[in-house]
Amino acid sequence: MVSEAARALHNAALVIDSHNDTIVNHMRAKLNLDGGPARQDGAAIVTRFGRGSGAELQLDFPKMRQAGINAAFFTVDVTNAKGTHLQYALDGLGFFLREAALSSEDIVIVRRAADITSAQKEDKLAAVLAIENTDGLDQSIYPLSAFYELGVRTLTITHSTRSWAADGCEVENGGGLTAFGKSVVTEMNRLGMLVDVSHLNDRGFWDTLKHSSAPVIATHSCCRALCGHPRNLTDEQLKELAAAGGVVGLTFVPEFVHDATPTIDGLIDHIVHAIDKAGIDHVALGSDFDGGGTLAEDAMVFPQITELLLQRGLSEGDVCKVIGLNHLRILSQVIG
Ligand SMILES: [Zn+2]
Repeated sequence: MVSEAARALHNAALVIDSHNDTIVNHMRAKLNLDGGPARQDGAAIVTRFGRGSGAELQLDFPKMRQAGINAAFFTVDVTNAKGTHLQYALDGLGFFLREAALSSEDIVIVRRAADITSAQKEDKLAAVLAIENTDGLDQSIYPLSAFYELGVRTLTITHSTRSWAADGCEVENGGGLTAFGKSVVTEMNRLGMLVDVSHLNDRGFWDTLKHSSAPVIATHSCCRALCGHPRNLTDEQLKELAAAGGVVGLTFVPEFVHDATPTIDGLIDHIVHAIDKAGIDHVALGSDFDGGGTLAEDAMVFPQITELLLQRGLSEGDVCKVIGLNHLRILSQVIG
């Protein structure tokens, strides 16, 4: 299904995926990130909240390797942690750090962008640690310094609901960044952490773009011109995100791709549209595996996307930008 030429390009390229919810779902499914049963079944905080998870997960370390994904943003979405968001974040991050230490795969926790390229050279996998929803800070900017020391390099300002920092895209008549939200952005800029605007409402998006002194990322969003969901970015937002040096990771969530007939080809339409509006240097991939990115069965869709982008007439160089180099560029610029 994937041509030899596309597979060769994909395997040689640096491939980075800017969003998955794999950590929390592996904990709920009691699976380790090597793809097997849990190494230990302790009293995890994460598993007290939210639904259970099916054992069929879209991403783990062996699947990353098989799909030719060199680096992925591993996020702990704290939204469901009723009143214990900070502990929940630590529980999830600790699970991942333990998995990385015990895994049969070599996993590098990314502290600098160059860690990704050296991991690739040494045939290791790289993980960018992330927190989704700054409620994980429990209304204080100080945990940011602690999370930074643990290796966290990006936080999503809010989920689609209301947070202490901002309102998400599903809050009716929602506001923009709060005073706390502004102080979070300022502190993330100071530390060298990448600010993620996915899930924000339009006011919050524009406030963040204006307030941030560094380029921002939308780790998992699509184009509103092609699918009218409020989680998606308007053409104007795509243009201004790019003008500020930002990157959008197009996501594999069916309802953000098409409201009736979402397909992989439709996802490619979003990528092509985003390139048209934001420019080739500002478009990338953010699957949302194990969090809603169910347009594809699992990570193995990545080589197929390379093939489909080549079929749409993108040059090999441009395909490499979309599947990894644009993420690498914004990471070098922001986290150093
Ligand atoms: Zn999300």
